[in-house]
Amino acid sequence: MEDTVESSPLAPVEEPVVAPPPVGDVVCRAPIGVPRRPRGAGATLCGNRPDRSGLLGPPQATYSTTEMHILKEIEATRRAVAAIRTAGETLALVPTMGKLHEGHLSLVRAARARCDRVAVTIFVNPTQFGPGEDLDAYPRSPDADLSLLRAEGVDLVFMPTVEAMYPAGVATRVRVPGISEVLCGAHRPGHFDGVATVVAKLLNILPADAAFFGEKDYQQLLIIKKMVADLNMPIEIVGCPLVREPDGLAMSSRNVRLSTEHRTQAVALSRALFAARDRVGEGITSTAELVREIRQEIESAGPCEIDYIEIVDPQDLSSIERVTDAARICLAVRIGDCRLIDNIAVTCATAL
Ligand code: AMP
Repeated sequence: MEDTVESSPLAPVEEPVVAPPPVGDVVCRAPIGVPRRPRGAGATLCGNRPDRSGLLGPPQATYSTTEMHILKEIEATRRAVAAIRTAGETLALVPTMGKLHEGHLSLVRAARARCDRVAVTIFVNPTQFGPGEDLDAYPRSPDADLSLLRAEGVDLVFMPTVEAMYPAGVATRVRVPGISEVLCGAHRPGHFDGVATVVAKLLNILPADAAFFGEKDYQQLLIIKKMVADLNMPIEIVGCPLVREPDGLAMSSRNVRLSTEHRTQAVALSRALFAARDRVGEGITSTAELVREIRQEIESAGPCEIDYIEIVDPQDLSSIERVTDAARICLAVRIGDCRLIDNIAVTCATAL
């Protein structure tokens, strides 16, 4: 029986495909090779799953419970989500721009732990890049991404084209004023409008029970939470911890664009944040003093351009003068061609 559920061709991918190539909106026949997480009294999710054969497309199509569906078409993706719903399963969504690393995979694992099915989206969203930003240079590795996701036991990958997401005439934008205008929003005008708009579209295409976002993009996480609350969107937004390289650098798809020298220099960002957290632990509460020390640490590591270093209220990102409770230190620094962001939670010693 034929597994293929859609016949429209998938755009060519950049790298050689690790078995077998995605040639349409297809069920990729490669076995995942990773057992489903145990559920209930030791039963596997696979074993618990209702038979969903035929729910995805033509009645005769087979929906494998052990294979990863790679979908490019919006309508096929809607059908896949509907099949999951019809089977009474829960769905988690992990939106990404690809060039996946352990930070992304930590979201996938959190998603798998929470829901029956996991969908990952890979889409480099042009509307969140401003003029002169690195849209064209943004790293992409779709085939390596698919291999990683297959190994994680992901059920569905949605990787649309720009044309599918933004057909001619699309005009609606989602904007979350206030919280999207500070920090990165102040330096990248319109960036978070693009983020909010694409996430709203993805949540409409793949209406999941929960969507997972990293604290690496702390401001983005808060904006999405606010958008979902303000628009009464029936989904839980789950924030996941920031994942770092062993030397402390926050994992980022953009890190591959750092030269060896800049990669070494970039460690100063997390070093400065860790030191500031320690200083808060020692009782330093003046944010001006803390910011001064962070700046000094970063600038002493080499030439760079600091967009901002701010210590803010972790709920609404408003500036604070003293760390008297929980706070978030957020920064964005340009090193070489790369704009790097990082942040850390700090808590005043007396608030512990
Ligand atoms: P991106 O592909 O950069 O748009 O990121 C997709 C999702 O992965 C976002 O929710 C990010 O916050 C999250 N993410 C990226 N890097 C990390 C990291 N180092 N740790 C945790 N989450 C991350």
